[in-house]
Amino acid sequence: MNTETPSLLVEGLSASYGSVPAIEDVSLRIDPGSIVTLLGVNGAGKSTAIKAICGLLRARTGTVRLFGQDVTGLSPDRMLRKGLAVVPEGRRLFGAMTFRENLELGAYSRSDAAAVRRDMERVLGLFPELRDRLSTVVGTFSGGQQQMVAVARALMSAPRILMLDEPTIGLAPVVVDRIMDLIREIAASGIDILLIEQNAEVALGVADRAYILEAGRVIAEDSAAVLAQSEFVKKAYMGI
Ligand code: ATP
Repeated sequence: MNTETPSLLVEGLSASYGSVPAIEDVSLRIDPGSIVTLLGVNGAGKSTAIKAICGLLRARTGTVRLFGQDVTGLSPDRMLRKGLAVVPEGRRLFGAMTFRENLELGAYSRSDAAAVRRDMERVLGLFPELRDRLSTVVGTFSGGQQQMVAVARALMSAPRILMLDEPTIGLAPVVVDRIMDLIREIAASGIDILLIEQNAEVALGVADRAYILEAGRVIAEDSAAVLAQSEFVKKAYMGI
């Protein structure tokens, strides 16, 4: 049993759209220094879980703790200021703005201009392929590059935890590999990760721990290595 204070501790979280339940009694934790993945097929409730955790959707029951502090019910903006950033599904970039402007918007919650400038350099260091494209409008970027911009923008808020909602969807395998390498690099820099994925094979390859969501409920949790070897997971989630 790990006695360290978790970076994120979610207990008994339920949320509905109107009277239709979408997630029910979801509990999960991210321990410091780890990559956790939440797996599930289309419609399992993964995005709903992220929204309920970060305050975009009001939870019906349950609690959310960040670094030991109860933050249940806080707005996404307050969560961001406490270190929880989200890379949303579909990226939600400002397509008509340049890469630089997107990065600057990512830092909107911060008033430490000198540190923001330093962080911009640090973040750009993670994306050598985009370095000379700061003045380019991001709507013209490829899907993979746009995903990188979305990650870079989230990093500009100087998060302590980064939640990514299906960052690999629609991307070519070589780009998926690049995104996974990035996730490893970000985690190694001290930012804890919650990776939401349908692609179990890829996610279990990068994560330390995994949860499986089915019809809004967590039906399995274990180390990623153990789940990757499970016959049930192979059959139901990897097609092998
Ligand atoms: P996907 O991979 O498609 O994003 P997901 O696992 O993230 O799937 P959710 O988007 O969380 O799943 O959806 C969970 C359930 O809630 C589904 O049955 C979905 O139809 C429903 N749902 C999601 N968003 C809404 C909404 N805005 N209004 C009503 N029902 C919704």
